[in-house]
Amino acid sequence: MAETTNVPSENKTLNCSNCGAPIGYVEGESVLTCEHCGSTTMLAGFDQIVTIQSHSIMRPRLDENSAVKTARAWLSEGRLKPSGLGDAADLRSVSGRVLPYWIVKSFASTSWRGMNRKTRTVGSGQQKRTEEYWEPTSGRFSENYTWPVYARENEAEYWGLKFLEPGQKCLFPDWRKFIFSFGMGSKTSPNANLLEGRVPFSLDGITDSGLKIVNGQIVQARAEETARARIVQSHDAKAAGKATRITDCDTTVTVQGTELVYLPMWEIVYGYGGRDYRVLVNAASGAVVAAEYPVGRTAKIVNFDLLFGILGGLLAAAGFGTGHHGVGWAGVALVAVAVAYTIISLVSGKK
Ligand SMILES: [Zn+2]
Repeated sequence: MAETTNVPSENKTLNCSNCGAPIGYVEGESVLTCEHCGSTTMLAGFDQIVTIQSHSIMRPRLDENSAVKTARAWLSEGRLKPSGLGDAADLRSVSGRVLPYWIVKSFASTSWRGMNRKTRTVGSGQQKRTEEYWEPTSGRFSENYTWPVYARENEAEYWGLKFLEPGQKCLFPDWRKFIFSFGMGSKTSPNANLLEGRVPFSLDGITDSGLKIVNGQIVQARAEETARARIVQSHDAKAAGKATRITDCDTTVTVQGTELVYLPMWEIVYGYGGRDYRVLVNAASGAVVAAEYPVGRTAKIVNFDLLFGILGGLLAAAGFGTGHHGVGWAGVALVAVAVAYTIISLVSGKK
């Protein structure tokens, strides 16, 4: 429950333009929500105060206990996690926050040109050889977004805030020193509709829930700029995978509307095997948005055995099958390594 408070850089107050109640805020915060009536004010410049007409919230449905339950259920699933992790996870802290996001509804269209490296066989008979050549290629693609921009300066102040962005890595398996992970167990965020399910902002379900409203700092215009830049970056990265070399990539982003949406989140910190890990649960949808988790012993054994066992089996079959006994015995040795690893892992009882 420990809420980390930064060194207070000058606390200020302003009276709510709707109900008159004092709103406390810190220097630099410019999108303020009244904890009394729920109306939101945007400070745009020194004396210009704008009340935001349309701001909404994803109504929280999970309280603190249900969020912990959700996290434990999630930790109990999946073949990479240690068995029984859901029950064994040692609850360290739970923090509930209602976080301000600018959701930038937009359409992005990209056209790209590039070159593909190809090979062909030329000549005939003795002159026959393979040569390399470049072939021009091009294409276009487009996508609709409800792009989330965290409405504060420091995206890193709480863990997991940027993971809502489509394409961001959001699952982090901890393989420790085990190197044969093959990138398994991680995942990227989908391009989900972040405006779905929102309701006009009110404090229903927030007052006395343990969820703390976080004020925004970034105004709408800047959020739109950020969204445009991030979408262009993400389309550049996508285009890069379409040809050996991209020579030209042009993305047009049309912003169709921007809304301030408050997302309630529970951040749960748990301990396991001497380390701390985090799970972020969306209090409105009940989904696990992002998580870190230890990888269990069984998953490591399976990966190790698959690698060495299959490699060894293939070598052994190929070697003995063709009379190359040295190769065959090397294959047998690899299989033996796999078996030995399994036995040592099981006997040592290390997690
Ligand atoms: Zn008010």
